Amino acid sequence: MILQGRLLVDPCQVPVPGWIRLGERRIAQIGAGDPPETPAAGDENSLICPGFIDAHIHLPQFDSMGCDGMGLLQWLGEIIFPAETRWLDQETACAQTRDAYRRMVRAGTLGYAGYLTSHVQGITAVEEAADRLPLRAIAGQVLMDRNAPGTLLEQPPAALQRAPRRRLSFSVNPRFAVSCSDELLASAAARLSGDTFLQTHLAESKRECELVAELFPDDPHYAAVYDRHHLLSDRTLLAHCVHLSDDEWALIAGRRCVVVHCPTANTFLSSGLFDLDAARAHGVRLAIGSDVAAGSEIDMPRIGRAMIEVAKMRAMSLQPAAYVPTPQEVWKLITCGNADALGFSGAGRLEVGADADLLLLKPRFEIDKHLISRLIYTWRDDYITHCVLDGQLIDRREL
Ligand SMILES: [Zn+2]
Repeated sequence: MILQGRLLVDPCQVPVPGWIRLGERRIAQIGAGDPPETPAAGDENSLICPGFIDAHIHLPQFDSMGCDGMGLLQWLGEIIFPAETRWLDQETACAQTRDAYRRMVRAGTLGYAGYLTSHVQGITAVEEAADRLPLRAIAGQVLMDRNAPGTLLEQPPAALQRAPRRRLSFSVNPRFAVSCSDELLASAAARLSGDTFLQTHLAESKRECELVAELFPDDPHYAAVYDRHHLLSDRTLLAHCVHLSDDEWALIAGRRCVVVHCPTANTFLSSGLFDLDAARAHGVRLAIGSDVAAGSEIDMPRIGRAMIEVAKMRAMSLQPAAYVPTPQEVWKLITCGNADALGFSGAGRLEVGADADLLLLKPRFEIDKHLISRLIYTWRDDYITHCVLDGQLIDRREL
């Protein structure tokens, strides 16, 4: 199968007309100029780019977006925990996961790292959804044993007993230190083996950090709680990291953890402005995520735009010398950058042998040197006409 369009190989270059031949689940050939045969999709006005990857998302929270007026802990108690309790019902878990998958693919997100609920029903739901739309994914049951409703505190260790799947792996997801005892964090460490990822939240809001200091009075700081349990490694995804001390930045940089910046979520919950300069100064590995439902956008180009805007806000209000990333940098992050952070080798790029997880776009403006900037700032998901997911062509209107 051949796709025709301008090839967005490098966001720093104006894409040239060309075509892509798909092999089984991979890009088999890339050529410039007119395609050698009639394309299955696309034309000379199309744009072909890699699918987006979201490094932090909560599948049970898609129907909970947009409930404003609360800080993190109140919002969890009033909005999120009741929503996650609904996954006790298997049909609800399956229906919401199917819907989340469909909405992600419609938005161009073809891979993610995310959270389910604590229930085993979530594992069944995500396996079923992946049979229909095989997103490349790392998903984990949420682990909690305190400070949440009783129905969310039972922890059957189901996920890691399931047979591994080609594009879906299960991670260990202690929600955050507030909802985890030392015993639970120790058991989380015991569940890690080989290439298993660990996902958790770190220093999202100030009140959360104060609470962690009260719950773990013997640890010097929040990151040390996780480190004491050997949870920090190069396969650890730490969402937020808004309120870290220098010692914490140095610790997570030294452990090669990935910090997942979630700009829309941080402004929605008034958690704070991420310190991109500290992350850069410490050489921390960085990814970005939607954090639905604290974030109320699914579209990754809009998360990228929010990352730029948060950096601009810091530069205007706090730190005139604050670094502001370019649209090209954030475009790389939402494609190959997030892919590399999640260990999705061969994803997020246009090259021979790469995963056939692609988007065909029809942007409503001229393709010139401002292309990436215009895409980031004017993004609409109906720019997407087709997706190629695991080598299969999907007309977006049919999703
Ligand atoms: Zn989150």
